[in-house]
Amino acid sequence: MKTTTDASPSWPENLSAHGPSCTDKLHRPLRDLRISVTDRCNLRCTYCMPREIFGRKFIFLRHAELLSFEEIVRIARQGIALGVRKIRLSGGEPLLRHGIERLVEMLAPLCGEDGKPIELAMTSNATLLAKKARDLKNAGLGRLNISLDALDETTFRRMCGSRNAPIGAVLEGIAAAQATGLTPVKVNAVVKRGVNEDEILPLVHHFRHTGIILRFIEFMDVGLSNGWRLADVVTAREILARITAEYPLRPLGPLCPGEVAKRWEFADGGGEIGVIASVSQAFCHECGRLRLSTDGKLYTCLFAGEGTDLRDMLRARCDDGALRQHIADVWHERGDRYSQMRQAMTWNPVGKIEMSYIGG
Ligand code: SAM
Ligand code: SF4
Ligand code: SF4
Repeated sequence: MKTTTDASPSWPENLSAHGPSCTDKLHRPLRDLRISVTDRCNLRCTYCMPREIFGRKFIFLRHAELLSFEEIVRIARQGIALGVRKIRLSGGEPLLRHGIERLVEMLAPLCGEDGKPIELAMTSNATLLAKKARDLKNAGLGRLNISLDALDETTFRRMCGSRNAPIGAVLEGIAAAQATGLTPVKVNAVVKRGVNEDEILPLVHHFRHTGIILRFIEFMDVGLSNGWRLADVVTAREILARITAEYPLRPLGPLCPGEVAKRWEFADGGGEIGVIASVSQAFCHECGRLRLSTDGKLYTCLFAGEGTDLRDMLRARCDDGALRQHIADVWHERGDRYSQMRQAMTWNPVGKIEMSYIGG
């Protein structure tokens, strides 16, 4: 199994596509900022917030603990000064954050040093999107990624851990995103063995010829609560084999460095699909993503154990220069490549899988 992508463009050292930028220990430029705007969600996907752990007794953050919109924008500005060109709002479910349109409105005008506006996107489960898509577009949101793991209602509800989850609302949300021009809409489906791999082809069939880009994601070992087992991962290779048996595909090159999805097009002109092989074909060598948690901690990797707090600094009225330097220091110290290390341990040709290494 390979650890790098053949056709990936690589970054000249210390340069982003837009000029000088902040690089980490592995020469990866800071490029994307993912901002979690709430730790709450109205679904309980088994692979993300399993109900047994995130149940009634689970204590979520109090409002005073969340970063305010003004605090988020201050951090975003300094990230942009250090090279960030894309901001993604996520969560939890970002549409649950009261007044989220106002945050979008505050972030949308921000520009990089090249004078070009940053790319502003959101990832949502779309259950609340139908009524909000127009306001989000008017506020300046650029694009939306929507999570949908199955079309069959029973399987959908099993994946999202909610007996009454409204698949109709999700489909309406997708339609609203497309109608309002939050395009290209991408639909992300996590595939978990024994649960929804039979939904791969129905999803492909449903979204072909719609302009919506469907992407399949390998089930990842994020956090400690989702009971991840390597055996439950349906690999990109298996996913593609299922699809190509029905619909021949042609590979497409990446649109930009660090793109996580491998892109394909249907040979018959049915559009584009993607596969995110985070487990079987790690892409750490190109990862330029910094994450900001709901309560103001910076995480340099999806699998990092510890974050660096910025909230206290902000609330102690630090100046922008100090804030920027602090973010730069965090990025300079970064050497994360968790998925590549996991891959080296679990996908080596000898096949000696050490589950304890990855926290089983
Ligand atoms: N609630 C929003 C949603 O579901 O789109 C945004 C937050 S959610 C954490 C962001 C993305 O992470 C979703 O596309 C979800 O499918 C994906 N995700 C969460 N846990 C995952 C896991 N264990 N493996 C792979 N993808 C995962
Ligand atoms: Fe909620 Fe998104 Fe996680 Fe599902 S994946 S539980 S919708 S945050
Ligand atoms: Fe980036 Fe960490 Fe994921 Fe590697 S494991 S791609 S460094 S977030």
